[in-house]
Amino acid sequence: MSTAFPAVMPTYARAEVGFERGEGPYLWGTDGRRYLDFACGIAVTGLGHAHPHLVKEVGAQMHKVWHTSNIFPIPLQEKLAQRLVASTFADTVFFGNSGAEANECGIKLVRKYHAHHGHPERFRIITFEGAFHGRTIATLAAGGQQKYLEGFGPKADGFDQVPFGDEAALKAAIGPATAGILIEPIQGEGGVRPVPVEFLKLLRELCDANGLLLFFDEIQTGMGRTGRLFAYEWSGVTPDVMSVAKALGNGFPVGACLATAKAAAGMTAGTHGSTYGGNPLAMSAGNAVLDVMLAPGFFEQVERVSGHLKQQLAGLVSRNPDMFEEARGQGLLLGLKCKVPNQDMILAVRKQGLLTAGAGDNVMRLLPPLIAEAVHVAEAIEKIDAACADLRARAPSRKVG
Ligand SMILES: *Cc1c(COP(=O)(O)O)cnc(C)c1O
Repeated sequence: MSTAFPAVMPTYARAEVGFERGEGPYLWGTDGRRYLDFACGIAVTGLGHAHPHLVKEVGAQMHKVWHTSNIFPIPLQEKLAQRLVASTFADTVFFGNSGAEANECGIKLVRKYHAHHGHPERFRIITFEGAFHGRTIATLAAGGQQKYLEGFGPKADGFDQVPFGDEAALKAAIGPATAGILIEPIQGEGGVRPVPVEFLKLLRELCDANGLLLFFDEIQTGMGRTGRLFAYEWSGVTPDVMSVAKALGNGFPVGACLATAKAAAGMTAGTHGSTYGGNPLAMSAGNAVLDVMLAPGFFEQVERVSGHLKQQLAGLVSRNPDMFEEARGQGLLLGLKCKVPNQDMILAVRKQGLLTAGAGDNVMRLLPPLIAEAVHVAEAIEKIDAACADLRARAPSRKVG
């Protein structure tokens, strides 16, 4: 045992404050302060903290049975799968424990589809620069970000990356070994960069024309984050495969890979599996989340708050032109492109009691819980204004305008 090395492997640059309790959109810090949580554990706690319905349902399940393994039928897994199928394009669902695992299932499914149809040589998947698909060996290769790949051996084969939104490069990348296209409808980690609807339509056309599967990574955009259950609903473009995680369990680790029956044709007994995936405890969390989200009026309320917040952010940007370039995003997946380093802004708003998340392209991500109301929007805007004033006071040479 080395006393110099931290007991928790030091793979994270952590904030100075942690939390001991949460309620709705608020968290209470170990420093005794209350924080407005517009980070939501990176788009995970979509229904806020300690939601009464989730506490009741998961609490009750905790007293019944936690885990049995997928050797046995799991009624709550059936139930959640059927509800996801009824609410989406998909016919079938595989459950895992994280986003990366949901993507791994999708990648395997895309490859298996072609192998099943006699074309095992078609295994390559096209992805886009700025993407984030997870931290496993395969999903790192899919994301293609050099800083994450560095030092972990040869990049897994089978992924061809093209520049974001580059139609010519995309068409040129499609070859006889191409199996599918993987994309986030809005790049989350990449800086809240929405993919234009026209481009999504083009992807669908290219997939249909070339016999490819279209795979949407909705791990961050899904489960109501954009104001509909899934972001693809806004575009009218339907994928063949979709990964979901983050807000699906509201913090209980669970991920899912959804697919059409046609796309999943090769995924027969024994081809894929998970020990924990879809266990009763995780499924009680997923079902409880859907109980809340599928209730009448839920997304109308998300849309109302989102419209209000976007309007307020536009005002904030015009009041603080030395700090922000623009506000962007959809629903409650929003970002402020900063003119100061985004980490400085994130720290400054945290000092004011507001939690946000970073993203690529020097963006500060705002991921309020879907249960946020106008009062929380007002509180957040006030805190960001105060943070701007504080940053300005500490850098007196920076001029407004
Ligand atoms: C968070 C995220 C992932 C990875 O999910 P993990 O649960 O961390 O494995 C993959 N894709 C997108 C778009 C994400 O936002």
